Amino acid sequence: MRRNMVQKLAGHGLSDPRVMEALATVERHRFVDSALRGQAYEDTSLPIGLGQTISKPGVVARMIELLRNGCAGKLGRVLEIGTGCGYQAAVLSLLADEVYSIERLRALHDKTRDNLRHLRLANVHLLFGDGRAGFAKGAPYAGIIAAAGGDAVPQAWTDQLAVGGRLVAPVSMAGGASRQQALLVIDKTVLGLRQSVFEAVHFVPLKSGVA
Ligand code: SAH
Repeated sequence: MRRNMVQKLAGHGLSDPRVMEALATVERHRFVDSALRGQAYEDTSLPIGLGQTISKPGVVARMIELLRNGCAGKLGRVLEIGTGCGYQAAVLSLLADEVYSIERLRALHDKTRDNLRHLRLANVHLLFGDGRAGFAKGAPYAGIIAAAGGDAVPQAWTDQLAVGGRLVAPVSMAGGASRQQALLVIDKTVLGLRQSVFEAVHFVPLKSGVA
């Protein structure tokens, strides 16, 4: 079922072989409630409780493909904002040396820590807190990826990005009546930050504080 899912994604233009291999490896059905397992390999987001969702595999693949930007090997340290059920963190663990993932909902953070324990992903560090502040202790990051969208990218994220690093985040586009989000890519170069906007996406909101 995973191979089939990956083949379909490849048909939609996703092409980074390392990302495809990681998606073929991680058992997405282990990250959703048993009642939803039958849909785990469809390209759809699914509820994970507390009003949050596991991202669509196609979007996870697309964002990680942008994050890797054709890099030949593994990324160094990566920061993820919005752990949710931990699926994307598990995919990232195969493609980065270290993954720091922050979640602001205590109940989700606790549940995910229990779920990931069985997978023994030694390089995934789950953190509880408001991810808008990033995680300075792990900085600088080769990559930063957000699974929740705000009106702008917090400065802490670009501050914590390494020179040569890349950030991928959904951001609400100003002026849109329906608060349309798009994928924003920021590259940090010796000359400063370079921004590019990609396609429209639909993510849960990036919220303040913890709960
Ligand atoms: N990465 C997940 C998707 C999680 S959905 C996957 O693999 O499918 C996005 C998550 O971001 C939600 O769990 C939500 O609670 C969390 N979130 C929203 N704002 C946040 C913030 N400021 N800091 C940390 N997490 C946040």
